[in-house]
Amino acid sequence: SMASPALLMRVVASAYSVAEKAATIVRNVMSAGDLGIVEKAGPNDLQTKADRLVQMSICASLARKFPKVTIIGEEELPTDDVTEDLIENGQCEEILKKPCPAQYTGIKEEELVIWVDPLDGTKEYTEGLLDHVTVLIGIAYGGKAIAGVINQPYYNYQAGGNAVLGRTIWGVLGMGAFGFQLTEAPAGKHIVVTTRSHSSALVNECITALNPDHVIRVGGAGNKIIQLIEGKASAYVFASPGCKKWDTCAPEAILHAVGGKITDIRGNSFQYNKEVKHMNSAGVLATLRNYDYYASRIPNTVKESLVP
Ligand code: AMP
Ligand code: MG
Ligand code: MG
Repeated sequence: SMASPALLMRVVASAYSVAEKAATIVRNVMSAGDLGIVEKAGPNDLQTKADRLVQMSICASLARKFPKVTIIGEEELPTDDVTEDLIENGQCEEILKKPCPAQYTGIKEEELVIWVDPLDGTKEYTEGLLDHVTVLIGIAYGGKAIAGVINQPYYNYQAGGNAVLGRTIWGVLGMGAFGFQLTEAPAGKHIVVTTRSHSSALVNECITALNPDHVIRVGGAGNKIIQLIEGKASAYVFASPGCKKWDTCAPEAILHAVGGKITDIRGNSFQYNKEVKHMNSAGVLATLRNYDYYASRIPNTVKESLVP
């Protein structure tokens, strides 16, 4: 008989199913109409009922299946009294059937850290920019993002009619990434994607210095990585603190799985061990291709303004 799949593949298969349930919760809260908005640090740092329910659903479901894995979620919420209707037990069969990359077959539960952003792009969710929203589950081992799931609950919502709403993108280093069509940005064009709701003078100064042909301002770290892997943008540039490890872990794993690169604005890679500081204080620079072109054009004054 077949040996049981490696732990990493079981975790990714669970994360896939848990993220699909999360997407249902995100859509149900919106259609019920009561978002239950709470301000965290201020009016640009919001939490809704969807952020709360999804965090409880993802963290409780994964903790039950993988009790020794460290799970770090964005929202500060009690982990007890999670109701049974929030628990997802499924595991994506297609993922379970794939072989685990050899370098990860021996991983033990206590060596994994899962970074959860239950709803990335909350500000945009509250403003009805629904396709900016993603659910992010990133998996780290040895301080590195090695696997990730990005669910986009409202993918296709503007297509209307019989278009299937929502999609799940997943990837593992050494395997690749699935659930989308990898596309390069137009050659010779510099299209920068950046924040829509967390701009600053420094964010804009940095973009101006890159002299892009076009700037796309959209919400969500997950959404911006999707812009890169689908060829809509050539670089994600965010010269500001504000983005956290749960924003970058899943996107990083997927981007790296297809040969892209993400660092802070100064070129430092991110670490995802459980003791790491949550804030990505020195911002974000990510590309699918041509990382060096953008990195070499970030002004030193911008780099010096951002302390890791
Ligand atoms: P954005 O590109 O503005 O959608 O930001 C990407 C992620 O980083 C989202 O999860 C934001 O909530 C978070 N983020 C970025 N800047 C800030 C900030 N100034 N305050 C709070 N969260 C932020
Ligand atoms: Mg986020
Ligand atoms: Mg969030």
